[in-house]
Amino acid sequence: MPTSRYLALLEAPFPEREDVIALLSPSSDEEKAALFARAHAVRRETVGGHVHIRGIIEISNRCSNNCLYCGLRRGNTALARYLMRPEEILACAKTITDAGVRTIVLQSGEDRRADAHEIADIIREIKARTDAAVTLSLGERDRETYRLWREAGADRYLLKHETANRSLFARLRPSTDFDVRVRCLRDLAELGYQVGTGNMIGLPGQSLADIADDILLCRELAADMCPFGPFIPSPDTPLSHAAAGSVELSLLTIAVARIVLRTVHIPANTSLGTLDPDAQRRALLCGANVIMPNFTPYRYRVHYRIYPKTLRETPPLEGLHRALEIIRAAGCTPATDRGDSVRHIPPA
Ligand code: SF4
Repeated sequence: MPTSRYLALLEAPFPEREDVIALLSPSSDEEKAALFARAHAVRRETVGGHVHIRGIIEISNRCSNNCLYCGLRRGNTALARYLMRPEEILACAKTITDAGVRTIVLQSGEDRRADAHEIADIIREIKARTDAAVTLSLGERDRETYRLWREAGADRYLLKHETANRSLFARLRPSTDFDVRVRCLRDLAELGYQVGTGNMIGLPGQSLADIADDILLCRELAADMCPFGPFIPSPDTPLSHAAAGSVELSLLTIAVARIVLRTVHIPANTSLGTLDPDAQRRALLCGANVIMPNFTPYRYRVHYRIYPKTLRETPPLEGLHRALEIIRAAGCTPATDRGDSVRHIPPA
């Protein structure tokens, strides 16, 4: 039986740090089942039972940074670098919207050489040709660049803080600064973006309290979307021999985040599916409500290796079909709207 204290925490309207740590550490399978059931119920009450689908295009794997955990780090000379041409990105965006998906995610490493105006042109063109929301995940840039992209039509921006533990952040992300990252997130929100931030679970040296702090930072920043996914070691990085993050702890994090953050969008991340083929379905049953199939052409996708993946050349819609299978297996249905943050949906 779950303890009465644990059951009370599941209902707490505004859990404090110690409560969040306690929620992340159920003491029995029954408590864990109660947590997952409560998270699923909160998800249905707050963001509904549908699952939003976002189509990802990995537009470039170039990166100016050298994060210890990431296969795209600039020090990884084993990786062939690419930058998709605008017409290739637009063709890919058309494939996504022709398939009925209403969010396009443009993702890349943090490439400070990338031309901000060229990216603005691509955003403008996508917005002119489709009714899709555009999410950017292009790393830290200055406020004026974020403004340029917002004015070009970008709706959302995803910038994971990765870890709220400052010393871990400094160790794992040399030459980057936690305060700058948080400043970027605040700038993005002020400019009217729907903002996403989140963490990696199982980073070497990370504690349960750190994960609680990650969830609470999302609450403090009033984030609209919160990806939480396991760390997966990547070859040709300094952490290649570290242990991978735990799928079970990732699912616990998603469930607790749903209870604490309530109305945010939480993806069932591909990294979960990489570690366990059933984990994305399970995530949709314990708080997650988004799935993000990859539409990047195979010739580029093979080089977008934040972590190792088993890839085979598949038709462009294979990722979408797999996502739909997972949604069905979870007993859910795909959403037909854009899946905006509830805070940003204009009144009818
Ligand atoms: S985590 Fe992001 S910023 Fe760091 S190396 Fe990878 S792509 Fe670059």
